[in-house]
Amino acid sequence: MPTHKTIIVSNRLPVRIEKDGDKLTYKSSEGGLATALGSIYKDGDNIWVGWPGAAFESDALKAEVTEGLKKESMRPVFLTEEDLEKYYLGFSNQTLWPAFHYFLQYIDYGSENWDSYVEVNQKFADAIAQYTNNGDTLWVHDYQLLLLPAMLRKKFPDISIGFFQHIPFPSYEVFRTLPRRRELLEGMLGADYLGFHTYDDMRHFLSSAHRLAGYPYSGNRIILENRTVVADPLPMGIDYEKYEENASHPEAVERENRYRKSLGSQRLILSMDRLDYSKGIPRRLRAFDALLERYPEYREKVSLLLVVVPSRDQVPNYQSLKEQVDELVGKINSKYGRMSWVPIHYFYRSYPFRALGAFYRMCDVAAITPVRDGMNLVAKEYIASRKNQDGVLILSEMAGAAKELSDAILVNPNDKNQLVEAMHRALTMPKEEQKLHMSIMQETVRKYNIYNWVKLFFDNLKAVKKMQTTMSTTPLTAEGQNELISKYKSAARRLLLLDYDGTLVNFKNDPLACAPDDELMDIIRGLSTHNDVVIISGRNHEILDEWLGSLSVHLVAEHGVWSRTAGEEWKMNSAANAQTWHNEAREIMDFYVDRTPGTFIEKKSNSLVWHYRKAEKGLGEMRKSELTSHLKHMLGERGFQVMDGDHVVELKPESVNKGRAAEKWQETTNADFTLCLGDDTTDEDMFSALPENAFTVKVGPGSSHARFAVENVKAVRKLLSELIDV
Ligand code: UDP
Repeated sequence: MPTHKTIIVSNRLPVRIEKDGDKLTYKSSEGGLATALGSIYKDGDNIWVGWPGAAFESDALKAEVTEGLKKESMRPVFLTEEDLEKYYLGFSNQTLWPAFHYFLQYIDYGSENWDSYVEVNQKFADAIAQYTNNGDTLWVHDYQLLLLPAMLRKKFPDISIGFFQHIPFPSYEVFRTLPRRRELLEGMLGADYLGFHTYDDMRHFLSSAHRLAGYPYSGNRIILENRTVVADPLPMGIDYEKYEENASHPEAVERENRYRKSLGSQRLILSMDRLDYSKGIPRRLRAFDALLERYPEYREKVSLLLVVVPSRDQVPNYQSLKEQVDELVGKINSKYGRMSWVPIHYFYRSYPFRALGAFYRMCDVAAITPVRDGMNLVAKEYIASRKNQDGVLILSEMAGAAKELSDAILVNPNDKNQLVEAMHRALTMPKEEQKLHMSIMQETVRKYNIYNWVKLFFDNLKAVKKMQTTMSTTPLTAEGQNELISKYKSAARRLLLLDYDGTLVNFKNDPLACAPDDELMDIIRGLSTHNDVVIISGRNHEILDEWLGSLSVHLVAEHGVWSRTAGEEWKMNSAANAQTWHNEAREIMDFYVDRTPGTFIEKKSNSLVWHYRKAEKGLGEMRKSELTSHLKHMLGERGFQVMDGDHVVELKPESVNKGRAAEKWQETTNADFTLCLGDDTTDEDMFSALPENAFTVKVGPGSSHARFAVENVKAVRKLLSELIDV
C-alpha cells in the first residue's frame, strides 16, 4: 500500500537553477515559505511542484532539470515563453494583481490572456496528477493557480485540497468587475479549506461566493452541492528566530560597521519593498520631502534608506513607476542634499539575507506604508530583528500585518499629513515607549510564526475533511433503493416520516400557495393504507389540518408543538407554552421587518417565524444573523431555541423539535422499517435522532446527517410511488 504524501504546489519552485560551466546547480530559496515548508516537502515521498524559474526549451535540458530537481524533492512544470507572457505577466499580474489590490485603473479586462491562464493551470493539474494517489494531501498556493483546486478535484473527487491566498481578496464590488469571476470562484472552491491573511479577505471571498455563484454560507462554511468548504483567516508569519539571529550575526554586524563608515552617524528610516504600485513608494517619498520641509531640524540628521527590489520590469506600469521613483529621489536629493549629507540613499536591487540583517539593525524607524498589501513580511522581519527592543514601526493600516500589529504607529497611506506626523512621532518617541510597543509586537510575531502557520493549516484542513465525512451523504442509487425496497417488503411494521415543504412540495414565494396537488394526495393515500405515515412539518396545525386532515395520516405541526394521531383530535405538546415570550419576541422581529423589505412574520401557536426568502440577496442573510443574535441575547436563557431554517428564522421552545417528535413516533409504532425524508436544517434533528438502520434521506444539495440523498421533490415522489407499487 502506498503511504499518503503531501504535495505543495506554487507557481514558482523554491529553487534557483544556475549554470556552472556546462553543469546545472540547484540553490534552494531562503524565502520564509520555502524554509517553513522545507520540513514538509523534503520529508519521505512528499514533493513540491512548480515552475523551475526559466523557460527550458530542449527536451534534453528538460530531462536534466527534472532529474536534478528530483534529488531536491521537487517536480517541474515547464512553461514556454508564451505561457510566461500571457499566464504570468498577463492574466496573473495585469488582471488579477491590480484587481485584488484595488487598482482598478490598471486592470487589463481584455480576454486575450485568459485561455493561457486556463491552459497553464491545466498543465499544473496534469503534472500533479502523475504524482498523486487517493489519500494524498495537496496544498496549492496563490493567485496564479486559482483554477487549479477545481481541476484537481475533478481528477480526484475525494482528495484533501488546501488553498492559501497570499494576496488580498477584494470586496465583492471589485471582484465582480472581472469577466471571469465565476470561473475563478468555482476554481477556488475545488479546495476543501481556503486560507486568507485576514478576516476581511475571508469575508470578501464568502460574500463573492454567495452573491456571484449563489452558494449559501453559514459562518465560514460554504455549502456546495456535495461538499462543505471552509474559508478561514490564517495570517502568515515569519521564521522569527532566523531573523532574530541574523540581526546579530557577525556578518550583519560587520556590514553595519562598513555602511556606517560611509554614512556617518545620522539616523535612518528604512523603506524596503519590491517595486510595485501597491507598495506606496511615491507617497512615502513625498511624505519624507514634507517632513524635511516642515521640520528642518531633521536635515543633515536623518536619511531615508530606500531599497527597491526590481520586479516585473516587463510590465509597462512598473516601468513608469520606476521612472517616477527615480525622479522623486532626484528631486528630493537635489533640493535638500549637502556635501556631507544625502537625504535619500537609494538602491534599486535585491540584497542577500545578511545585508537585510544589517539594514534592520541600523534603522531607528521602518516606514512600511503600502497602499494595499496582503500581509507584508518586512514589517514582521524588522520587529524580529530588534533584539534591544528599540526602534519604531510605522505601518499602513492597508497591510494585512496591521491586523496583528496594533502597537505599530498605524497610518492611512493616503493621508500625507498623517505620514509626516507619524515619521516625526517615530523619530521623537522615547526609548521606554519604543520598548513597550516593540516587546508586545515581538511577542505576537514570535508566537504566530511561520511554523505555527504551517501546522495550523494542515490541522485545519484535516479537521475540515473530518467534518465533511460526518456530514456526507451518498446519493440514493438504484442499488441503495433496492436495499430499501427489500427491507420495506420484509418489515412487520413500517414508519414513514415525511417533511412537507421542500420535500413533498416545492417552495413558492407565498407559503400559502403550496397546497397539495392531486398527485401528492394520491401518493399519501396510497402509502397510508399499509404504513404509519407521519407528515412532520414546521407549518401551523390549522393549515396542515385543512390540507391533509382528511387523510388517514398522522400529523405533526410546528416542529412538534401540535400533533394529531390519524382519526383523533389535535393535541398540544405540554412542554410548549407561548404566553410568556411571544410579545417580547414579536417586537424584536417587527423591528427587523421594518428594516428589511420583503420579509414578514408568521405566527404559530407556539413559535414565531421570520421569513426572508423575498428580501434582497445578501441583505436578508445579514439581517438573519443580526436577528438571530438579537433573539439569542434577549431570550436565549429562557428555554427557547432560535432555529435557522431555509430562509426563515424560527423561535420556539427548546424542548420541542422534529427530532423529539420523530423519536416519539419511532417508540410508539416500534417500527422495524423507518424511512425519513427532509430537506432543511430542522430535519437534521430527525436524521440524528433516528436509529442507525433507519433510511434517512436528505432532499437536495448540501451536507447532512442523513445517510442518503435524492435530488429534488420530483425524485421523492418517484421513490414514494414505487413503494406504493411494492
Ligand atoms: N527581501 C529580500 N531581499 C531584499 C529585500 C527584501 O530577500 O533585498 C525579502 C524580505 O526579507 C521579505 C520579502 O523579500 O521576506 C518581501 O516580502 P513582503 O511580504 O514584504 O512583500 P512581497 O514582495 O511579497 O509583496
